[in-house]
Amino acid sequence: MTEPLIFELGAPGRKGYTLPAPDVPAEPLEEMIPARYLRRTPANLPEVSEPDVIRHFTHLSQMNYSIDSGFYPLGSCTMKYNPKVNEVAASLPGFRDIHPLQPESTVQGALRLMYELQELLGAIAGMDAFTLQPAAGAHGELTGLFIIQAYLRSKGEHRDEVIAPNSSHGTNPASAAMARAKLVTVGTDARGRVDIEELRRLVSDRTAALMLTNPNTLGLFEEDVEEMARIVHEAGGLMYYDGANLNAIMGKARPGDMGFDVVHLNLHKTFTTPHGGGGPGAGPVGVKEFLRPFLPVPIVERADAGYILQEDLPQTIGKVRSFYGNFAMLVRAYTYIREMGRQGLTQVSEDAVLAANYLRARLQDLYEAPFPGPNMHEVVLSARRQKAQGARALDIAKRLMDYGFHAPTIYFPLTVEEALMIEPTETENKGTLDAFIEAMRAIAGEAAENPEIVRGAPHDAPVSRLDEARAARQPDLRWRPAEEASA
Ligand SMILES: *Cc1c(COP(=O)(O)O)cnc(C)c1O
Repeated sequence: MTEPLIFELGAPGRKGYTLPAPDVPAEPLEEMIPARYLRRTPANLPEVSEPDVIRHFTHLSQMNYSIDSGFYPLGSCTMKYNPKVNEVAASLPGFRDIHPLQPESTVQGALRLMYELQELLGAIAGMDAFTLQPAAGAHGELTGLFIIQAYLRSKGEHRDEVIAPNSSHGTNPASAAMARAKLVTVGTDARGRVDIEELRRLVSDRTAALMLTNPNTLGLFEEDVEEMARIVHEAGGLMYYDGANLNAIMGKARPGDMGFDVVHLNLHKTFTTPHGGGGPGAGPVGVKEFLRPFLPVPIVERADAGYILQEDLPQTIGKVRSFYGNFAMLVRAYTYIREMGRQGLTQVSEDAVLAANYLRARLQDLYEAPFPGPNMHEVVLSARRQKAQGARALDIAKRLMDYGFHAPTIYFPLTVEEALMIEPTETENKGTLDAFIEAMRAIAGEAAENPEIVRGAPHDAPVSRLDEARAARQPDLRWRPAEEASA
């Protein structure tokens, strides 16, 4: 399973096209381009035919793993299948071929889609107004914190602390740091929920916000969320909802009803816009009415003459992204929501939760479940027992590749030793879940009897164990011609 570089393919003179010889006399190149601009030696480019190129890149794509090629239970990432009808909608010429600087009157359809998406997300999350600008969840968090800070400033309040649970996603403390807030960490109780007594002690007149995801990163519902909202609001702080886990509760519960003032949603998780590889994504931010004046501009509004880009929000935090957000992602998410409808989205959450609990029920005899269930959309197991036998969570993740599966998220949340965080999503059928369960059970057996085979995995991948830290920081991506490489 290796593939040569494209420079190593082909042969001198081979081309990817054939054009008929021109039937008009051509001017000599030297007369069209001044001699000093002409190359003296031809560029060192691959000389390949069209099939060479297509096969090369197809082979490369097959060395990768994607949701279109198999089960991808990467916890917290909601790697559900992305329906292809979304792509059809996003490539309609009326959406694809427009320019962000066109006059509003010529892009009414696009503006209507954005307006309706704002309304739909508002209905799903229980919020009053939305901005579609932020390009990712983390970007939404930062935007939301800016909005909260602008609101507090407008009231003459100086609150510099943001509270987040110790199980929170790494972007929460990172966003707090980028917003120049002081991070205060609240612990987790024996049931895997926020330690509410500790929260009571931590809030003060310095609290700007509590950042919370519900269900939390352990896949557990925070039943005391209303009490937490009361505690934070009574202290004068605001409630920020990290909506990356919304896939668990659509049609069942709404962050707006739980007491949250600001939310971000990950369209590239819950709403089937493709993700991975760093983007593009979309992390719209919704707010309660009293925060609307602080939203980034423009937001899309409906006026008598049609849809408009409203720039006139006197207390706006300004722009957080060029133009209006990742528009093609908005088209995909809108298509998905309209296709599913209220009932469909409710079923999505029911099936996602059912799948996670099925995995838990069929794996918890072999892998420790550190907290009591039932779970929501994902389950966090621990490979502590397997570690004692000689195979760590990392080894199990690598071994899953030999069985044809993408690995779950590992070593997150940080509060669980040897964490294996599994999020099956609703788009996988029982047969796929059963095959994954069988693989996990087989690996548990290997860990007990023959841990070397797990520690040495993957055995069938193009590359085996990389130095994870060095591979991320010094990726070896550049091809050098033979003479330069030997020099
Ligand atoms: C994915 C995720 C985020 C961040 O979203 P990005 O789009 O990757 O920036 C934040 N919180 C949780 C719980 C997440 O799963």
